[in-house]
Amino acid sequence: MMGYSHSVSAAAAWLALNEAGVLGIDDPATLAVTTLTAAGAGMLPDLDHPKGTIANSIPPVSRWLARLVAHISGGHRKGTHSLLGLAVFWALTYFADRLTYAGLPVAAIGLAAFSGGLALRIFQAPGGWLGAILVGLGAMTTGALPLLPWAVLAGAAVHLLGDFLTTRGINLFWPLTFKPLVASRFWRKSGYMAFPILGDAGSGREGFLTSALTLYLACYLLAFVGILPLFPTQFFASLI
Ligand SMILES: [Zn+2]
Repeated sequence: MMGYSHSVSAAAAWLALNEAGVLGIDDPATLAVTTLTAAGAGMLPDLDHPKGTIANSIPPVSRWLARLVAHISGGHRKGTHSLLGLAVFWALTYFADRLTYAGLPVAAIGLAAFSGGLALRIFQAPGGWLGAILVGLGAMTTGALPLLPWAVLAGAAVHLLGDFLTTRGINLFWPLTFKPLVASRFWRKSGYMAFPILGDAGSGREGFLTSALTLYLACYLLAFVGILPLFPTQFFASLI
């Protein structure tokens, strides 16, 4: 999947969790900060690709970080695209909240600003660095902080799901590799597994799915602020 598709699907999943009542966020500012963090986290697993979009997001810092992550995680679509990687992303955000300076959880705020700023960049929002700073300030002043580890986990998990639906697939159990007795496009000799209904990354099918999810995002947000009378699920339920 491409960066934009990853971010849109991560944001849509986060809003769908809220619509299903799992998150229970009813404050617009908290929803905005956590959704942007989830959307940015939707790209985090590709930080293992020194030439990827995320590596070029804030040069040269992001490129150094990408090189380091690629080194630690074994290369592209390995450690960061596994269950172990998801656990590490969650734990880093969870413990970031406990790292304080002058009473402020600076690491968690920085992480929200980085992730949210990345999402704003991929959504081509104007404002550049100002957007990232606003997300950081938002993390500080809303109820977003305790939700950040879950926003990052949701974003990264949806990234893995997106890559699983493309031809190359992922190895969810890295560093372990389970090889099939009979190789197929669902489970390859390399141990990578896929359910490639989207075809290659950047396909027309991926574009269609991303457009549908963008529409869901827009409708949800308009309903949340009261411009649309019904949330997307309520709308479809009313048709049945
Ligand atoms: Zn990926």
